[in-house]
Amino acid sequence: MRIIIVGGGIGGLALAAGLRRHEFDVSVFDRDHDVAATGGYHITLDGRAQAALRELVAPEIFERLLRSASALRLRDRDALWDRRGRLLAYGPRLGDSPSVDIDRITLRTVLADAVGPDLKLGRTVTGIARAADGEPSAVFAEGPACRGDLLVGADGAHSAVARYLAGRPTSEPTGIIGFSGRTGAEDLGISERQRLGSRSSMAIGPHATALYIGFLDPVGNAVLDAPEGREAVTTGPAYIWGAMFPESTATDAMRTLRGTALRSALLTAFGRGGWSRRTLEVVERAEPAGIAAFRFNAASTRAQDLAPWAAGSVTALGDAVHATPPTAGMGAGAAIRDAASLVANLCSVASGTTTLPVAVSRFEAEMRIRGSETLTAAMRTVRWMRATDTRLGAAATATATPILAAASMIARRH
Ligand SMILES: Cc1cc2nc3c(=O)[nH]c(=O)nc-3n(C[C@H](O)[C@H](O)[C@H](O)COP(=O)(O)OP(=O)(O)OC[C@H]3O[C@@H](n4cnc5c(N)ncnc54)[C@H](O)[C@@H]3O)c2cc1C
Repeated sequence: MRIIIVGGGIGGLALAAGLRRHEFDVSVFDRDHDVAATGGYHITLDGRAQAALRELVAPEIFERLLRSASALRLRDRDALWDRRGRLLAYGPRLGDSPSVDIDRITLRTVLADAVGPDLKLGRTVTGIARAADGEPSAVFAEGPACRGDLLVGADGAHSAVARYLAGRPTSEPTGIIGFSGRTGAEDLGISERQRLGSRSSMAIGPHATALYIGFLDPVGNAVLDAPEGREAVTTGPAYIWGAMFPESTATDAMRTLRGTALRSALLTAFGRGGWSRRTLEVVERAEPAGIAAFRFNAASTRAQDLAPWAAGSVTALGDAVHATPPTAGMGAGAAIRDAASLVANLCSVASGTTTLPVAVSRFEAEMRIRGSETLTAAMRTVRWMRATDTRLGAAATATATPILAAASMIARRH
């Protein structure tokens, strides 16, 4: 069976790696020219995503990933702060957490190695054609079309394949825009470094503004203590942060800025919302060239709205079907689990126990449930943020956070 995959991001590469392991004939096409020349910060993989990856890639590839990842169990509990840097609450202890964080570039690079020459870069898919017998082909901006028994769209949140299948875009903007960056822990002053510590944090303010600060240290908090062969892009403790604002004409204008101009605009926007300078040190000391804007797109949280097409020889997975904002850190893991499910179902076709339409239909049914769960978790934070973007919500946040901060301090003293 010949399988064409459109998109060599996390889901597409995980699928291609799994299919290769089971000796399917597979080609994956991505418009990027270099897998490492891509954006992105850290990706969280929970226990289920790791179990799926273990099935998809060879043991030595899985070990390379773990060697380059940071273990959540070695991190301090997450913290919730207000916009003045007052502690509101701690999250649960992470000592039992099986989750790991890994640089997106590291994950993509190692998966691309697992796929090898079946990954074709610099190939933009512009459409899908059907032969008289219904067999699908990927059509490219340049070069001949490529035909397969099954075509899988793993082309992300603005998927052309899913739009072809659904007859409309499969996700829409949530009204929140993010700006992300990376700051080495050693670039922070001692007191801010102590406040943030080896934990991830979320700071909240009124009017849907928030600052997520993730802690990533694949060396100090390595999952596997095996320095040889470690491939992490992050080689020292770093804070990976995401500043979130409601979309507006002002934030739209910020999307056109780059480098120090964007960093200054972010500090000004937080300052207007009453954020104290101290809480913004992580933004102020960030490497300006790495700051980037990303819109939060989301698909419906209802399982029955996802993959709204009849199962056939063209399907899709990952963000193409269930585009998920990064607020739950589950989008990449869900795409990997989709890939494992599709591989398992296609193995049943190869062994003759089922037909291709039935296998695709089963895969899509499982994916609808998984996508709905993932989106429900991610949209909880988005909805809560949007609730603070009303006059009442903003007033409630401004009033409640100092009270919560005081209660938290009293609880810690006792
Ligand atoms: C640049 C980038 C940075 C990200 N950073 C983070 C992050 O820091 N943290 C986080 O949690 N999540 C991040 N994400 C999202 C996360 O990687 C995805 O939610 C998750 O990987 C879902 O995987 P996916 O394979 O469905 O889509 P993606 O990983 O988005 O992959 C889609 C791929 O399809 C390719 N593509 C799209 N259209 C075409 C076309 N017409 N022809 C050929 N190729 C096409 C794209 O180049 C891309 O490589 C990022 C995504 C991207 C694209």
